[in-house]
Formats: sequence, structure tokens, C-alpha cells
Amino acid sequence: MLRGASGEPDAVVHVLNYLGSNHDVMTLAHELGHGVHGILAGAAQGPLMYQAPIAYCETASVFGEMTTFSFLKKQLAEKGDNAALLALITQKIEGMLNTVVRQIGFSNFERRMHGMNAEYTEWNEPTKLSVEELDGLWLSTAKELYGEDGDVSPMKTAAICGPTFRISTGPFTFTAMRSANC
Ligand SMILES: [Zn+2]
Repeated sequence: MLRGASGEPDAVVHVLNYLGSNHDVMTLAHELGHGVHGILAGAAQGPLMYQAPIAYCETASVFGEMTTFSFLKKQLAEKGDNAALLALITQKIEGMLNTVVRQIGFSNFERRMHGMNAEYTEWNEPTKLSVEELDGLWLSTAKELYGEDGDVSPMKTAAICGPTFRISTGPFTFTAMRSANC
């Protein structure tokens, strides 16, 4: 975030990979939602108070995504491009389902890592886990949701691909489900 003379955020810079897919467009829309939120919150609340809790931040970004999705949907419907419209809608549905399932997976992994038993019924004293044990725990909790044939990456890869991996991810599920009827 770039700051003007007053110290308030007045520009947001996003560096993203862009290969022209619908997913890339939605990622850009998501991040621009964060940017607009940051600028407006900065103008209203100043540089010390513009940051918000993650659920609030993700509401702005998912709003950006859903606004873009609605725009693209309307454009394709007006053009009568039903094949592209169907692809856009099915990708969105898949993406939202995967967002919810993936966040549940992150939550399950985090709970197990901090001492929850395999049945998710009781907490035990957490123990220090090796990298291999953490990776095994990650794969087993992911496979509970995606099945043995699911496309599940080892933790090292998942952590690289998912920059939100190290934070509490419930708000993504909350905002995805809340915006499902946009
Ligand atoms: Zn976000």
C-alpha cells in the first residue's frame, strides 16, 4: 500500500500472475476489493485505524469477486454465448465449493496439529511434530475431504500455493457462503 503526504493509503499495488483465465480475472477482482477497502478505510479512519479484522476484509474482496462475476455473467448472457456462460457459472460453483471444503480442511489440520484427536471429539495436550509428521497429518486431513483419489498436494506445496495457509481461514468460508446468492 502506498501512502500519500498525509500518511493515509492512497494507492494499492498488487503483483499477480495473469494468464488470461477466468480464475486470474477473479483473483484480480478479489485483490482489487481489498485495495478499494484499504483506500476507503484509510480515507475514513486514517493510517493507524484502517486495518480491519479478516472477516471484514474478506467481505470486501469477495464483494469485488461477485461484482465482477455478475458483470461477466450479464455480458455473456447479452451476447448469447451460452457455452461461455455455462463455463463461467460452473467454474464459480466449483470455486465456491472448493473454498468451503479447503477451509474446513485447513481448520481440521490446525485442530489436529494443536492436539485434537482423529475423531475430532476431544483435545489432547499438543506435542511437537516433525516435518514428516506434519506433512502426514496434512495429507490425512485433506484426504478425509477429497478422498484417496483427490488432488492433494504435500504441505510444502500447499503452503506455497496458498498464501493464506498460516492464518485462520474461517472468514473465507463465511464470506463465500454469505455471497453465494449474489
Ligand atoms: Zn482476500
